[in-house]
Amino acid sequence: MILERSAPLFAPRLAYSAMADHQNGNAVHLTDKFGRRITDLRLSITDRCNYRCVYCRSGEEDAQFSELPMGDYVRLVRVFVSLGIEKVRITGGEPLLRSELLPLVEDLAAMTTHSGKPLDVAITTNGHLLAKLAEPLKQAGLSRVTISMDAVDREKFARITRVGNGYDAVVAGIRAAKRAGLDPVKVNAVILRGFNEDQIVPFARFSRDEGVIVRFIEFMPLEEERIWGPDVVVGFPEMLAILNGYRPLAPLPATSPGETAMRYAFDDGLGEVGIIAPVSRAFCGACSRVRLTSDGKIRTCLFSQSDHDLYGVLDRGGTDADLAAFIAKTIETKEARHHIGEAGFVKPSRSMVHIGG
Ligand code: SAM
Repeated sequence: MILERSAPLFAPRLAYSAMADHQNGNAVHLTDKFGRRITDLRLSITDRCNYRCVYCRSGEEDAQFSELPMGDYVRLVRVFVSLGIEKVRITGGEPLLRSELLPLVEDLAAMTTHSGKPLDVAITTNGHLLAKLAEPLKQAGLSRVTISMDAVDREKFARITRVGNGYDAVVAGIRAAKRAGLDPVKVNAVILRGFNEDQIVPFARFSRDEGVIVRFIEFMPLEEERIWGPDVVVGFPEMLAILNGYRPLAPLPATSPGETAMRYAFDDGLGEVGIIAPVSRAFCGACSRVRLTSDGKIRTCLFSQSDHDLYGVLDRGGTDADLAAFIAKTIETKEARHHIGEAGFVKPSRSMVHIGG
């Protein structure tokens, strides 16, 4: 596969003094040294998972895991929101495994952003436990849900997730999310050559039959087992050609400046699909994201070589101002872009399940 890069270039700018504004009581917008506004927080609340997807985890049970008390996440998110974060996506590991999820969502959804709007709270889940939780999550203030599902064929689903009994539960979870009024309901499928590239057309039909948005994601080198290689990545042009061969596609406009997916409708208006192409069409130039791992470390990029220990500041008795200063300083170190596919690329030491996808 040919790797191309379409990230816009940007000029470095002087570091924005977020802390001076914060201390003066002015509204602060976290901005990195390339001028990118950071408005989107991915919050991992566990690195445990009940699935063992081949492109993410190893086949072994994890001997240990890292989780903070929910109150610590709430405090840290409040500080992030005071610095201009507008959206929080709860992730993991599998976030639905945490028993105190509903009060967490309630606390987060009660926060107000700089623009005076309620904090937008979304979740990414494998959907296994969603059928019972979709309605209570909606009541708690969750706005949207993304469900990871990598095959509409049962056998393939089991081969990828490495659990025998997930398929029906996940489909039930998707339908419950629709019934509960979570909007939109998106389904994300990571496409790996030799595993599920033949699922692209069945997923397009699934989108049309179930009324959900299906997005196809290029496989990134973030797995525990070493299976990534350029040949295993099914790239954007190939996915687009397969979808167009099924039914003609019409591009849709991005829903936000930081939109990661290229969106398409089918010619008859039924169904919606998207392609997320971090490998062949990196979107780092418009990145608005920062991640907090389940053990309270900031990651400025999925492919960062190091973490920044925000929890350490909290644990040493730091004030909210100390936490805000640490966050603002860390954002200044955000990488310009990732280097997947380039000579000298070094895979991060943490895999997706430990970073929080
Ligand atoms: N357990 C939840 C789930 O399954 O959605 C949340 C965590 S999971 C790590 C978040 C997302 O990361 C999922 O959509 C998953 O498919 C994606 N992911 C994990 N490893 C990946 C990889 N190597 N390349 C691309 N996406 C990956």
